[in-house]
Amino acid sequence: MYLRLSEEQKMVQNTIRRFVENELMPLEFEVLKNEREGKPGLSEEKQKELQLKAKEFGFWGINTPEEYGGADLGQMMMAIVFMEVSKTFVPFRFGGSADNILYYANEEQKKKYLIPTINGDKKSCFAMTEPDAGSDTRNIKMTAVKDGNEWVLNGEKTFITGGNEADFVMVIAVTDKERHQKTGRDGVTCFIVDRDMGWTSEYIDTMGEWGPASLVFDNVRVPEENILGEIHGGYKLGLEWIGFARWVVGARAVGTAERLLQMAIDYAKERETFGRPIADRQAIQWQIADSAVEIEAAKWLVLNAAFTLDQGEDNRHLAAMAKLNGAIMGNKVVDRVLQIHGGMGYTRELPIERWYREARLWRIYDGTDEIQRMIISRNLLKGHVKIGQYV
Ligand SMILES: Cc1cc2nc3c(=O)[nH]c(=O)nc-3n(C[C@H](O)[C@H](O)[C@H](O)COP(=O)(O)OP(=O)(O)OC[C@H]3O[C@@H](n4cnc5c(N)ncnc54)[C@H](O)[C@@H]3O)c2cc1C
Repeated sequence: MYLRLSEEQKMVQNTIRRFVENELMPLEFEVLKNEREGKPGLSEEKQKELQLKAKEFGFWGINTPEEYGGADLGQMMMAIVFMEVSKTFVPFRFGGSADNILYYANEEQKKKYLIPTINGDKKSCFAMTEPDAGSDTRNIKMTAVKDGNEWVLNGEKTFITGGNEADFVMVIAVTDKERHQKTGRDGVTCFIVDRDMGWTSEYIDTMGEWGPASLVFDNVRVPEENILGEIHGGYKLGLEWIGFARWVVGARAVGTAERLLQMAIDYAKERETFGRPIADRQAIQWQIADSAVEIEAAKWLVLNAAFTLDQGEDNRHLAAMAKLNGAIMGNKVVDRVLQIHGGMGYTRELPIERWYREARLWRIYDGTDEIQRMIISRNLLKGHVKIGQYV
């Protein structure tokens, strides 16, 4: 075992760091200003321009298979990249990517949805959550009823990321009520539904700088050929979509917390009270020390989750741990860093309060803290995973 990045990984880390420092961080002031005026932090044109710039640095389709023109960096490299890119709050998204489950598309669907999404010509979103079914995904009610060569969809989805901007949604609906009621998992199907087939979306205002959407399906007719993957096999796709992002939340928390901690260290050395820098006070030093320890621990969990998947092993247990621990760590660190900045931390002159609000979401989406704990304890209690199994 060698607990250091390889030369290649270090090179990727340095390159993404240069991109973030040279291209993204200089935009921070402008992003804050735009957001405070109620506009998106980055315009679509700017987002595209930055994506092409990132492409010049070699970051295009970072998780996209090479046959689709991507870099297919692998999980460890992605962890490294996400940690670096999360050192800024500039809402940059890499170009050349598509949702993991869209690769289950058949050849026709790939031409119509996957390729245009990778090329940035179409935007997608994924909709599982409903007003009465969040953590309890087995409780979804949206129905899809067959009528000739079409399926008729009725119901509501909520909290859908990108739902206001998407050209199409991958939506989970009940196609066999009896089977669904009996098993909770079977009997639901994933449909690809274009916006112009008739679903509508409405912005949900949140404490973050962007809002998800609620989606309404009122007798939306979807052709049979728009089923993604297997009929009645939608639950598995849903879990796969949610599972992908899980450890990435931990990676994001690590990158953000590292940047915030550096801000706290710099400020503590500068800010004087009672004739001495606050960095001289044990109360401040301990907050810095605790944050550093927690960040380091969270980083190793994230890297282990990513490494395990790269080995072709099941990483769901570790991903749940990386997500739970990372999200909690991120919230603790941002709170301490705000505290160390005193009144300034609470102002909108600095981005700390923005991160404070953003970090709160990490403990909720892609499975709440409580759901991660449920997964971890269930794996242990049922013997699916043994204590100390991985190292
Ligand atoms: C900004 C944002 C973006 C999102 N994006 C998407 C998206 O793109 N697509 C999508 O499908 N969904 C999305 N979601 C939905 C998200 O995954 C759910 O909000 C989340 O899973 C929690 O579900 P809920 O809000 O219904 O809370 P509930 O499930 O109602 O839970 C309420 C509380 O009870 C706790 N709880 C629930 N069950 C248990 C239990 N068995 N034991 C102990 N405690 C429990 C929860 O942890 C929580 O604290 C998004 C949510 C937000 C806020």
